[in-house]
Amino acid sequence: MFPTTIAGSLPKPPWLAEPGKLWAAWRPAGAELEAAKLDATLVAIKLQEDAGIDIVTDGEQSRQHFVHGFLEAVNGIDFTKRVEMGIRNDRYKAMVPTVTGPLSLKGRVHACEARFARAHTAKKLKFTLPGPMTIVDTIADGYYGDRIKMAFAFADVLNQEALALQADGVDVIQFDEPAFNVYMDAATDWGIEALHRAAAGLTCTTAIHICYGYGIPANVEWKATLGAAWRQYERVFPALAKSRIGQVSLECRNSKVPIELLKLLDGKDVLIGVIDVATETIETPEEVAAVIGEALRCVPRERIIPCTNCGIAPMRRDIAAAKLTALGAGARLARERFG
Ligand code: ZN
Repeated sequence: MFPTTIAGSLPKPPWLAEPGKLWAAWRPAGAELEAAKLDATLVAIKLQEDAGIDIVTDGEQSRQHFVHGFLEAVNGIDFTKRVEMGIRNDRYKAMVPTVTGPLSLKGRVHACEARFARAHTAKKLKFTLPGPMTIVDTIADGYYGDRIKMAFAFADVLNQEALALQADGVDVIQFDEPAFNVYMDAATDWGIEALHRAAAGLTCTTAIHICYGYGIPANVEWKATLGAAWRQYERVFPALAKSRIGQVSLECRNSKVPIELLKLLDGKDVLIGVIDVATETIETPEEVAAVIGEALRCVPRERIIPCTNCGIAPMRRDIAAAKLTALGAGARLARERFG
């Protein structure tokens, strides 16, 4: 009961990348960098195991950013043709590369770290990929002339990598779609269909992560404009409940999402965010168990998976480690209390 997992990312050690930053530059280079990424992956796995996390990830130690880490392995993208774009409906500006030709994979994207992680943990392994809608919201189009067409082209290359990750022994493939919380109509119009295409043929567990973003100032300010009840999930959950995606990862702890909205995910496993990634305050096991208790009012116990609200890449490492420990301890407490 209550197996735990994390949204995906963990902070990188200072010998791999500059700490406290979301798009931090790599510190080593060449072969040293490749070795350092795997060393960091090992540390990430060990931290999760020690904290009592049941479904572990590679901590996304091998990618600079959750979207561009994938794009670097895709043909048809010109990284020298960077343009400033307002992303997530203009919530923040980013310098993004441009699609200039038909998309295809150069080869495997995450084989190295996925196989390495698989070889070094007996726990269930989850691997994250950016979702098609979030990708097209983070890149300029100089070729397809149509966002939906481009999203489906990305879905095809994502699918190729997802199937290969499954063959590498990954147990859960999660697509990160924060854009679903911004473009709710598009999410139901074509976003879920693009996701189905990205997940086509997968027999392992599939998941989607929809959040209110990392704990960076632009997101904290945006959340302050969303009012007393955040009802974005209400628009997409009914369609997700009917989808072929198995699990939905969402934000709960310290958020203004009305807990009743979780009832809209009938039939899905629900990854309940019990750890806030926007504050350095470390949750107590009691607080974690309390959020699980709240969720129990709306989700059957066998479908609850305690998780973090979002990735913790930009957080201080010691705080991230303490939050993982709180997650594991809180889930144990909840098992005693509600079991
Ligand atoms: Zn997130």
